[in-house]
Amino acid sequence: MAGAASRRHSVGVNVGGVIVGGDNPIVVQSMTNTDTADIEATTRQVAQLWRAGSEIVRITVDRDESAAAVPHIRDRLLARGIDVPLVGDFHYIGHKLLTDHPACAEALAKYRINPGNVGFKAKRDTQFSTLIELALKYDKPVRIGVNWGSLDEELLTRLMDENASAAAPVSAAAVQREAIIQSALLSAARAEEIGLGRDKIILSTKVSDVQSLIAVYQDLAARCDYALHLGLTEAGMGSKGIVASSAALGILLQQGIGDTIRISLTPEPGGDRTQEVRVAQELLQTMGFRQFLPVVAACPGCGRTTSTTFQTLAKEIQDHLTTSMPDWKEKYPGVETLSVAVMGCIVNGPGESKHANIGISLPGTGETPAAPVFIDGEKVATLRGADVADQFKVMVADYIEKKFGAGAKEAAE
Ligand code: SF4
Repeated sequence: MAGAASRRHSVGVNVGGVIVGGDNPIVVQSMTNTDTADIEATTRQVAQLWRAGSEIVRITVDRDESAAAVPHIRDRLLARGIDVPLVGDFHYIGHKLLTDHPACAEALAKYRINPGNVGFKAKRDTQFSTLIELALKYDKPVRIGVNWGSLDEELLTRLMDENASAAAPVSAAAVQREAIIQSALLSAARAEEIGLGRDKIILSTKVSDVQSLIAVYQDLAARCDYALHLGLTEAGMGSKGIVASSAALGILLQQGIGDTIRISLTPEPGGDRTQEVRVAQELLQTMGFRQFLPVVAACPGCGRTTSTTFQTLAKEIQDHLTTSMPDWKEKYPGVETLSVAVMGCIVNGPGESKHANIGISLPGTGETPAAPVFIDGEKVATLRGADVADQFKVMVADYIEKKFGAGAKEAAE
């Protein structure tokens, strides 16, 4: 039977009101790339990410100035009506920053701890314990986020040595994967020993190679019931990053693994940070796990189309739907289930358009210059003239108003 495997059982974790894991929908999260000490820039970017649909936003907390800025960022967001959980990303001195800045510890909804860089030897144990005790004190969950770029060297060396003297040694790559998993599981066990509940712990084990990521998470998922955060680290720019992340995360999600995702894209210089949110949403929507945006089905075009009218119309409709969604979510409940088809000719145009809520089949080369429009499977109009695109956009707006507007709600009551 077609469909994803049933979701792996995990213990749900409440991150500032958003539940990650359990039977809850897979959560989309993102991370800022501003200097957190720059309160205005960070507030603005968190607001943009939230507006794009990020349900949790992570910010870097790397020094005193950043930690001091966190409560102000949270307050400015709340003043704008944005109550998005903020996660503090800590490395090296998180124990100190959270101790010295209680308002920061309070304002954050979760602490992200990388066990590979909380210190070395005895210091590591003390600093890790301090972070967990602070999480207990402020009643916050943590993400124990292992990254192979900053893997616990002592653990890796010990496992490599054990492997070298084993009767049947495995590959160095397999030992590295085991070190990543053990780093996460041993840290989580230590956090539980200190008193943190399982419902306060999320794990991640990020690597930048697709096959390794899949192998690591499959193994991790089978060995614990902690909620899992998925992400391919250093995925890269543009289509490379999107394809690599989608391939890796898509396979894991299909296997029922993963409770929250982040797509780590490197934006083009001056590029839009919200792209990572859209890609995460599109991945979950394409696979049928969640619905965020109306779907626009558009054909790729071919030699049967001589104009770019349908490409332009498909783009305009897609852009219009995407940019309108933040307002429509309030005004037109359920509009995310809308499907629109914009097709280039008679070959697949009418058929595809009939499957959509509203669809248009534009004329291809040699066809009569007329564009039939279908609503809920029925042909309702034939558009002609140079302003076919504008006429169709009006019909889409009417359809949305009738189906999802206040009138539709009243009629249903
Ligand atoms: S619907 Fe027509 S224009 Fe579009 S790809 Fe198919 S044959 Fe080409």
